[in-house]
Amino acid sequence: MTPEEFRRIGHQVIDWIADYRTRIADFPVRSLLEPGQVREQLPKAPPARPEAFNNILRDLEKIVLPGLSHWQHPSFFGYFPANAELASVLGDCLSTGLGVLGLSWQASPALTELEEVVTDWTRQMVGLADVWSGVIQDTASSSTLVALLCARERASKYSIVRGGLQSGAHPLIVYYSAQSHSSVEKAALLAGFGRANLRAITTDERYAMRPDALVAAIEADLEAGSIPCAVVATTGTTTTTALDPVNAIADVARRHRLWVHVDAAMAGSAMILPECRWMWDGIEGADSMVLNPHKWLGTAFDCSLYYVREPEHLVRVMSTNPSYLQSAVDQRVKNFRDWGIPLGRRFRALKLWCLVREQGVEGLQARLRRDLANARWFESEVRMAPDWRVLAPVPLQTICLRHEPPGLAGEALDKHTLAWVERVNRSGAAYLTPALLDSRWMVRVSIGAIPTERSHVESLWALMKREAERSGLALENRIRD
Ligand code: PLP
Repeated sequence: MTPEEFRRIGHQVIDWIADYRTRIADFPVRSLLEPGQVREQLPKAPPARPEAFNNILRDLEKIVLPGLSHWQHPSFFGYFPANAELASVLGDCLSTGLGVLGLSWQASPALTELEEVVTDWTRQMVGLADVWSGVIQDTASSSTLVALLCARERASKYSIVRGGLQSGAHPLIVYYSAQSHSSVEKAALLAGFGRANLRAITTDERYAMRPDALVAAIEADLEAGSIPCAVVATTGTTTTTALDPVNAIADVARRHRLWVHVDAAMAGSAMILPECRWMWDGIEGADSMVLNPHKWLGTAFDCSLYYVREPEHLVRVMSTNPSYLQSAVDQRVKNFRDWGIPLGRRFRALKLWCLVREQGVEGLQARLRRDLANARWFESEVRMAPDWRVLAPVPLQTICLRHEPPGLAGEALDKHTLAWVERVNRSGAAYLTPALLDSRWMVRVSIGAIPTERSHVESLWALMKREAERSGLALENRIRD
């Protein structure tokens, strides 16, 4: 494709994206296709001859779009907000268009330095002290893996440069809340701790980690001759947005020399609001922290910020320095390849830079405050409605709830919950994700897509009540028959 062809088709593509965002509310939020339906419409083999780009756009419209669930839809209330503000979409296009790689500072100096600047801007936006240094990773899963690798190495006095993890005589132990994201357990397993050395700490009635249970687990491990190594606290768990008490956890960790990693993947965005910062009180006692601007903040996926207080751990654990990557300025610059797992880096900083500049901190704050207000309104509606129950505190924008008609309990209640949420999702008018809480199904309503206004939340609430009622009636009829 020549630059002139690119210009012509590129305009069409940008128009297509703009039109998509304009008409997005017309699509069913969750794709209604069955498994395999997209694949069967596509040729099994690649085209031997060049095709016109228009054919690709036609198939995108006809085949791909119906196979998408629309995360940027105003009635997307599933999982968590994964906002792709259009300013950051343009940043992503620019990054791809430039086609540069950051293998080292010298490979693209601005790529590294813009990353230093935007991670520092975000540090200031969330109110962290200036001792923290940031780097952009692809996901929180990678950030947590990197944190646990560093924790493992610090606790084992850098075993990797000696005999590897297996050379230690005593097992290293990782602690996290029973409500933490699955990526935490996965990271600990990938980092080689071994399942037997992972401790899921019990939570309290607010679904937050119990520091007394953490202390008890650490003491039992010490007694058994094991070495407590790291604790992962979560600010804003995935299921209920519970807030682990970071201050108390960091206190315990300090006494036992544990690495403290805070997973604020989702809730970290809220820390741009000074009124929310109590939620991670004690964060300055952590060793590392992750927050995902690719969630609620609005940076197009993927953009996960990993912050550390002492970057030398990263460098000691992950530095590689083959001759072809060395340069005369290495002592004066950051080489981010030493701060994570991949060597090649995309120019992700551009999309965060575009977002923050185009929206301004105040613009971002206003949107998040709107979402919090919508969540508070919705919570109070649910609390007032007969037979509906809010199941967990609502510090942020996620409401966990259940419709509990009289006489329904246990598995029958589970069936009812899954039935009405499926009716909502099948209607195409909204998308909700159910999840297990205390071993029973409930429904999470996660508010915070960019176009979601109060009217969309009101429509959702009316739809939920209607579908729960209908599903209750259907159940009664089945029981009567
Ligand atoms: N941690 C928390 C608290 C999350 O909510 C999520 C995503 O749902 C993750 C980690 C994983 O994020 P990522 O997809 O960036 O790995």
